[in-house]
Amino acid sequence: AALSRIAEVDIKGGWKVGNPVPYASLAKTFSLIEATTKRLEKTSLLTSFFFLVIQRSAKGDSNSLLQAVYLCINRLSPDYVGVELGIGESLLIKAIGESTGRSLATVKAELKKEGDLGLVAMNSKNSQKTLFKPKPLTVPFVFTNLREIALSTGHSSQAKKVSIITKLLAACQDMEAKYIVRSLEGKLRIGNAERTVIVALAHAAVLAEKSQDGKKWSEEKLASRLEEAADIMKSVYSELPSYDRVIPALLDHGVFKLRDTCKLTPGVPLKPMLAKPTKAIGEVLDRFENKRFTCEYKYDGERAQVHQLEDGTIGVFSRNSEDMSKKYPDLMEQLPHCIKPDTRSFVLDAEAVAIEKTTGKLMPFQELSKRKRKDVKVEDIQVRVCLFAFDLLYLNGEPLLQKPLCERRELLRKHFQIVSGEFDFAKHSDAESIDEIQAFLEESVKDGCEGLMIKMLESDASYYEPSRRSVNWLKLKKDYLAGVGDSLDLVVVGGYYGKGKRTNVYGAFLLACYDADAEEYQTICKIGTGFSEEILQAHWDTLRPLEMQKPRGDVKVGGAKPEVWFEPKVVWEVLTADLSLSPIYTAAQGLVDERGVSLRFPRFIRVRDDKSADDATGPEQIAEMYERQALAQSRVGKKNKGG
Ligand code: ATP
Repeated sequence: AALSRIAEVDIKGGWKVGNPVPYASLAKTFSLIEATTKRLEKTSLLTSFFFLVIQRSAKGDSNSLLQAVYLCINRLSPDYVGVELGIGESLLIKAIGESTGRSLATVKAELKKEGDLGLVAMNSKNSQKTLFKPKPLTVPFVFTNLREIALSTGHSSQAKKVSIITKLLAACQDMEAKYIVRSLEGKLRIGNAERTVIVALAHAAVLAEKSQDGKKWSEEKLASRLEEAADIMKSVYSELPSYDRVIPALLDHGVFKLRDTCKLTPGVPLKPMLAKPTKAIGEVLDRFENKRFTCEYKYDGERAQVHQLEDGTIGVFSRNSEDMSKKYPDLMEQLPHCIKPDTRSFVLDAEAVAIEKTTGKLMPFQELSKRKRKDVKVEDIQVRVCLFAFDLLYLNGEPLLQKPLCERRELLRKHFQIVSGEFDFAKHSDAESIDEIQAFLEESVKDGCEGLMIKMLESDASYYEPSRRSVNWLKLKKDYLAGVGDSLDLVVVGGYYGKGKRTNVYGAFLLACYDADAEEYQTICKIGTGFSEEILQAHWDTLRPLEMQKPRGDVKVGGAKPEVWFEPKVVWEVLTADLSLSPIYTAAQGLVDERGVSLRFPRFIRVRDDKSADDATGPEQIAEMYERQALAQSRVGKKNKGG
């Protein structure tokens, strides 16, 4: 089944071994992926396409596959390099107008009707009469031009961008314009999760190996190899999230040797391990029964992954793998003071926390968020930052992910030193009784933290699990104890105009969670409380430029009817008193009930500008919260009945 779609994604003639990958074949693959909601079908389409790319690449050419993969996930570089697309609507409208000879007004009117600029571009192209068939687009040509657009900055960059886009559009045939424009916008919207790309890559590599082998493989052998390859690829990519490194190794040594050739490497940030929420200390003890665990302060700052290469270069990365050295020039200056002399290379997991200059007291995240994100000058810094390290993932040439936390912690303390007000180790207590944990939790809150992180300490259950929200890390926030529950990070997808005094701003908003598998935003509630006049004004300023007339194609609307739609970009942290089933909203539909789950009495806490829309809370977490609440209510019910 993996290769059943080859004939459909191939193009007739013209794609011989050593030739550049035709963009038409990729666009065809995209359109077939877009047409199905079945994950397995999406995987086999992509596998077929990647297999063709591997088979038809010249020996030693890893660029073809690399560029094809980047275009499939709509990126142009690893996250930490930060070459990004996301071209504004007006620029694209201009380019579509110029390349198809249509007026801006016509293009705008059609956009209003279609709600998808990609479709508008395709229709405009197809209704245009051309005398000569343009030279077919190739993947390297499209990729190089997209990169050039993303990299062009400065004075005349707008004109340059329009001219490159116009050139690309002029060469488009059939459905190519649709996907090029969507790529430029920064969202392909074909329901192609990165996980599918990773599995398809692994499958294509196995099938290429099989075809080289020449021998017949039994069905069982093939099935087990495909499964093993997908597991290897997923774990390797979570440790070394860089296709620039993984793909050449995959082609040179094959998928089954990847674990030896691609390991965690300083300079390539990995996706951090995350925690599951917990509501009561009793629940922690149930979960970690008879196992050793440790409680650490949960600092209220910003995640910071610090890397040092063998040559002494230091890098600081955010939880989304963005390079933060421009945001934290002070941290970059401070870091060398805490590294002991025999520490040559490392990867630290830590929290950067704002502290008061004179007293060293911890300050809440809001203080830290007042900092600019870029081009910060040390002399202008008002808010001082101290780094609290809680894990060591790599040391002197060796990854430590698969060592127990107790060993990693020992190495951390041996190779780094406390520098007052600059660097410290996360405060911890290994006490295990309810009373001691309660006391430690209260102490953490008194010291200005959010609560505790409780972590498995020994055995393989305490290994570091990149990119996973693991049950081996639990978070216990002070809010839970007040019975409020965990907060959610939700995307603002719609707005309602204000009434009375609030007519010049939005008065309420429609929020959504994000389903990474289906690549869609699912509506969850309307929120209109918790906002000061000042905050409403700030929301207006941020959201107004994101207004759209129709919901974007990847928003699963349900019965919600906001007055305006927004491009899903802005993430808010929200608290709720209660979750309930709803016939209107679509969040977690099908997970606990046919109806969706919605938030009752949601309250705005803060803007999460350290999270992108794709990092918003997912439907599984929402279903879990709903079920946990139902369980707690049934317990209370039993108690009340004396049960
Ligand atoms: P939250 O809103 O709770 O920060 P989150 O989705 O950002 O949620 P969680 O997995 O829920 O992340 O909580 C872990 C976060 O807490 C980490 O990303 C990190 O930034 C922060 N943190 C603070 N202290 C610690 C610690 N001792 N160990 C691990 N993470 C810590």
